[in-house]
Amino acid sequence: MSTIQDIDPATGETIAEIEITDAAELERLVALARASQPAWAALTFDERAERLRAGAAALGERTDELGETITREMGKPLAEAKREAAAWVGHTAEVLEEVALALAPESLPAKDSVTVLERHPLGVVAAITPWNFPASMPLSILIPALAAGNTVVFKPSELVPLTGAILAECFAGELPNGVLNLVQGAGDVGAALVKSDVDMIGFVGSRDTGQRIMKAAGDGLKRLILELGGKDPLVVFEDADLESAAECVVRHALRNTGQVCCSVERVYVAESIAEEFERLVVAKASDWSHGSGFDEGSKMGPMVSEEQRGKVAKQVDGAVAAGARLVLGGHAAEGSGYFYPATVLGDVDQSLEISHEETFGPVISLTPFDGSEERAVELANDTPYGLGANVYTRDLERGLRVARRIQSGQVGINQYLGSAKGSPWVGARQSGFGFLGGVDGHRQFTLPKSLSYPKAT
Ligand code: ADP
Repeated sequence: MSTIQDIDPATGETIAEIEITDAAELERLVALARASQPAWAALTFDERAERLRAGAAALGERTDELGETITREMGKPLAEAKREAAAWVGHTAEVLEEVALALAPESLPAKDSVTVLERHPLGVVAAITPWNFPASMPLSILIPALAAGNTVVFKPSELVPLTGAILAECFAGELPNGVLNLVQGAGDVGAALVKSDVDMIGFVGSRDTGQRIMKAAGDGLKRLILELGGKDPLVVFEDADLESAAECVVRHALRNTGQVCCSVERVYVAESIAEEFERLVVAKASDWSHGSGFDEGSKMGPMVSEEQRGKVAKQVDGAVAAGARLVLGGHAAEGSGYFYPATVLGDVDQSLEISHEETFGPVISLTPFDGSEERAVELANDTPYGLGANVYTRDLERGLRVARRIQSGQVGINQYLGSAKGSPWVGARQSGFGFLGGVDGHRQFTLPKSLSYPKAT
């Protein structure tokens, strides 16, 4: 039997050994999902929604356990883990309301015939998800996919197998047998799932893995939603409210120890205010202490793995060797656990790797620029990614002008990214393919199908 070593990143100790789903079992579960799909799709939307709300209620009974498991497996502060675990108890009902609107049949006008546009499920969906938001990311795929009448085979990240198992137990316990199926394993199991007899892959993870999945899915022309990484810019013009811009930079570069696809990873500051802004950022970032997620004093937990910490350290060391100024942090803590401190780099040149490749760690990278709109747009777009972006200026017209020219799915002007109900989560360029959330996102778990017949005369 092959197993995953489930490691506590705060100590480096093994929490559990989890059995990896072998090829025969994976095939059996995909076949079970396929066989269970017609009966699940034959239920009314309301019947499916009721089962899913019951799943959310079951989750509500286990949010403390789920929160503790999240902190144990990937390290984030316990209060944040519990909030994440609890959020979907209410959020499931909201998403179901949105899905109901998105999937409602439409009558299309035609002269002599009646045409009804319906939205049919695609069949079996593979949900392959990451570890950084180990409850939210899976549920943002599972709920709309299942509500639309698909069945699902779900593979959580190999770094959070127990979290994935709790989610699957809560929902599968309220669903007919075979509607939601759990497989465990790393990238090879994910790759086998993509190749298997599934109709669609809903994926959240890194750009490299997304590219691999897209290639593999080409063989069967499988449908895809890929939510990938980012290298989000934040532009600070000379007339910005510096206090609020600095607060946004620090919070959204350091939250979840920087392990967020829409972290602020590049900060472009008008030269005239660069020194003052750096002082503000350093003062605020100095408060972001790190330690075990179970310790109430920790604003940041450890990084998820030794490998992830190594990647961040290499990028920071490379930037410093190439002339960036190390202003805060920058040295991995000694001892057990994969800790890395809040780090601030000044005078980061645009040519460096850290200005282009995703860092996914608690690093604030400050690059002064000439303060012009033209240069701000040029720098913000100087990346293959296009997830989020932020612009700070007291001139809202300028903020909107610049925001419209930045190639990304969502832009915050004088605030962090918005999260209005109904907005899809959009990765432009190499940050994604397809969307999750909102009407646009929910519809992607379905095939639009038109039925036409002559009007009665
Ligand atoms: P991260 O490094 O942020 O975990 P990954 O993209 O490596 O991001 O992983 C996200 C998810 O994709 C995980 O569940 C992982 O096991 C899975 N995965 C990794 N490689 C592949 C692959 N080649 N095919 C399918 N899934 C994969």
